[in-house]
Amino acid sequence: MKLLLMGPPGAGKGSQSERLVKDFELTSISTGQMFRESHRNEEPLGIEAMRYIERGELVADDITNEIVRKRLLKEDAERCFILDGYPRTVSQAKALDDMLAKMRSKLTAVINITVDKKAILERMVGRRVCKQCGLSYHLAFKPTRQDGICDVCGGTLYQRPDDQLESVRNRLEIYESKTQPLLAYYKGRGILREVDGMQSFDAVYQAICAVLKELT
Ligand SMILES: [Zn+2]
Repeated sequence: MKLLLMGPPGAGKGSQSERLVKDFELTSISTGQMFRESHRNEEPLGIEAMRYIERGELVADDITNEIVRKRLLKEDAERCFILDGYPRTVSQAKALDDMLAKMRSKLTAVINITVDKKAILERMVGRRVCKQCGLSYHLAFKPTRQDGICDVCGGTLYQRPDDQLESVRNRLEIYESKTQPLLAYYKGRGILREVDGMQSFDAVYQAICAVLKELT
């Protein structure tokens, strides 16, 4: 099972993906996480990527494709994976298709989580991430047991610069202009499925599982 979750920033892709990874033993491939990790390790690629991210811009295609290509070559990505945050442009989608074709593989399905814009702004501004393990929470929708402290590792939560209002607006605009054409691309290939993201976290998750059942 090789999956791609799509949806505007704030559609809950990260949290849904975390749960899918646990329940289906998928390998999570999150470009955002890889960039941040690379940045923490002070690698040039991560430092450059973070400059784009903090401005709310898309990381350049060549940087992004390269980090994904390296990740797909690792053994744990051979059988099952779920992509998060990639591809974001049609050009990245084509690069991904080429990478997978070279490995004699392809995407099983692309699941698009649909939500409305106002709801997204509310969601994003409430998001908090664990500094230590990278898990994401939400002040309203997925609160921690103890304020500001990660349930899993006890790390401190923070608000990512790209979750601040100005940056969110910018990301939404980019999504509409660059990422939305991707939906047409995958629809044309017959692997696009839609899930209503305006339901509760659990209902969205069940809807995704129903799609997966249908496919396997
Ligand atoms: Zn944590």
